[in-house]
Amino acid sequence: MDERIDIKNLDRNELKGLVRQFGKEDYRARQIIHWIYHENVDSYAKMTNLSKKLRDLLQKTSRMDCPALAAVQTSRDGSQKFLFVLDDGESIESVLIPDKGRRTLCISTQAGCSLGCRFCLTGQRRFSRNLSTSEILGQILAVQRMSKNRSLTNIVFMGMGEPLANFKNTLKALEIMNYDDGLRFSKRRITLSTVGLIPEIEKLGQSSQRCRLAVSLNATNCETRTFLMPVNRQYPLEDLLDACRRFPLAPRERITFEYVLIKGMNDSDEDAKRLPRLLQGIRAKLNLIPYNESPLLPFERASEGRILAFQQALLQKNLTAIIRRSRGADISAACGQLRGEFRI
Ligand code: SAH
Ligand code: SF4
Repeated sequence: MDERIDIKNLDRNELKGLVRQFGKEDYRARQIIHWIYHENVDSYAKMTNLSKKLRDLLQKTSRMDCPALAAVQTSRDGSQKFLFVLDDGESIESVLIPDKGRRTLCISTQAGCSLGCRFCLTGQRRFSRNLSTSEILGQILAVQRMSKNRSLTNIVFMGMGEPLANFKNTLKALEIMNYDDGLRFSKRRITLSTVGLIPEIEKLGQSSQRCRLAVSLNATNCETRTFLMPVNRQYPLEDLLDACRRFPLAPRERITFEYVLIKGMNDSDEDAKRLPRLLQGIRAKLNLIPYNESPLLPFERASEGRILAFQQALLQKNLTAIIRRSRGADISAACGQLRGEFRI
């Protein structure tokens, strides 16, 4: 086991503390951030504007490697799924989705997920642990490194796990992703999706808000939502929507609500009618996600006709509603299909 500290777990101030311990000036922290996140170098030896002595000290005390890539699968539609193995043998996945001018990486924040949504394969896997800040950021750096010159444009926290259940490490990763001398992802290029943990949504709102918010809604009444998403017992629909109403938004910013369309569960005309009423007073847009079926789960995708009718009903009420066509389904890389294990 590597006993050294992991340098990607340190924010700017902590890095300053580290270089101070070595008797070095604060601006060295900025240089290190630039090398790790902007230049994406894989060793201290390449940080050529640092003295040899400082590089050696860093090397002795801290590690800077990324999670080990164990496999890559490429979908017919061009999206790619990456399997990473972590130090303790846990495995996680990230998905790269190229789309017109965009290259979006979907990253994981936990190995497994403890929230147990019934329709989600990640939720069926046992929860192992939270990822460290370094493991969250490492997914981005590792993928950037593999796709030289074609950098990522967007990051979505929609991979394995519930980002707000790993609040501290996720928030720190967001902060580091925002650094203008590092990865430079602005707020509008990062989207965090949550199952709806109200206290953490509030804490995120109070922090200096470094991402766009997406909320997995998936039902229009408490009973169905509790059946599909047990977390609704603790944080019921109406309370969740009130928290969204209070969430501070920049001008023109909106909250995205994800709505997975499952046959006979949440795809009725009544559901489509209730939605605009529920979302009243929230600057919202809807992402309708046709359910990705799995032989391991009993649910079916809503019919194409239903999906279109559902969308029409929302559009008629002046709600923005986009159908998010699934990517990477042939390699089990679509929403809700990540399990951290490849069957090659
Ligand atoms: N835990 C967070 C982040 C994961 S994002 C969250 O739940 O929001 C995963 C997204 O995929 C969620 O919006 C979820 O509702 C959706 N999803 C899960 N399983 C799915 C499936 N089988 N088909 C389509 N979407 C699914
Ligand atoms: Fe966890 Fe999100 Fe899947 Fe629910 S949908 S089990 S919160 S990853």
